Amino acid sequence: MRRASSAGRPAAGGRAPQQRPGGAEQLGFEGMPERLFVCTPSKLGAYADCPRRYRYSYVDRPAPPKGPPWAHNSLGASVHTALKNWYALPADRRRPEALATLLKGTWVREGYRDDEQERAAYRRALGWLEAYVETLEPEADPLGVERVVAVKTAVLAFNGRADRIDSRPGPEGPELVIVDYKTGRTGLDADDARGSQALALYAYAAERVFRRPCRRVELHHLPTGTIAGHDHTTESLTRQLTRAEDTARDIMAAERAVADGGDADEAFPVAPGPRCGWCDYRRHCPTGAQTPGKEPWAAVDRSVEG
Ligand code: SF4
Repeated sequence: MRRASSAGRPAAGGRAPQQRPGGAEQLGFEGMPERLFVCTPSKLGAYADCPRRYRYSYVDRPAPPKGPPWAHNSLGASVHTALKNWYALPADRRRPEALATLLKGTWVREGYRDDEQERAAYRRALGWLEAYVETLEPEADPLGVERVVAVKTAVLAFNGRADRIDSRPGPEGPELVIVDYKTGRTGLDADDARGSQALALYAYAAERVFRRPCRRVELHHLPTGTIAGHDHTTESLTRQLTRAEDTARDIMAAERAVADGGDADEAFPVAPGPRCGWCDYRRHCPTGAQTPGKEPWAAVDRSVEG
């Protein structure tokens, strides 16, 4: 989530707030704590993947132009919205026959190679959804669907939108489970669930928002109908939180360096790799521009037609 900057009027008795890149500002009162770093999982992930990409997304203003929309993002968004709207139906209308209307109603068309590929993607997505809802109990209402959870720590003001939060019986009462839908080509395993910082942060936040244990995280891969799960412990959630806080400190230090006149390219170095071919800012990035770009529909080609 991006936040608008606040007006930078001088505060009585203090220095004028110093404008930070991306709209954040630092009040100059001695002894005052640093402003919390407002973040989502994708904001932290962008920096962890490539600090330069983070800068293009969240710091440079005006932001550099992005490349064209990706078909795999359209496909993922369409499936996620259909599942969200599935749960908005009364329980007695949650039947597989409802899915075609739901999927058509919010289908995102951008990025596909042509109508033929888009139609193939729609048919494939409908098949995924029909198979997936067969595994759900129509009467069971999750605790949250596309539910925003937020938590503050000494460093972070975290917020994120979980695809689904289930409440399931545990040995000592109801426990929460974070469910994340996946539509990419490749299946996922328990290591993906265990290593996902986003899922861990959702679990950490949900436990505090709902005041119920939330240790289980699950990746539901619709193309294969598989579930990759992990049961966190207090320690493993704390480790993920500490990592997120470390990333936040790095980002704040880089932003401070730029605000103090440092070289923005040095503060936010490139981290080139295969991901450059899929980067929204490849054309703007001198390093990424040396990597051949992927066609916007390339990932769907592989997942839908492969
Ligand atoms: S093109 Fe590559 S190096 Fe450049 S911002 Fe994107 S991911 Fe980073």
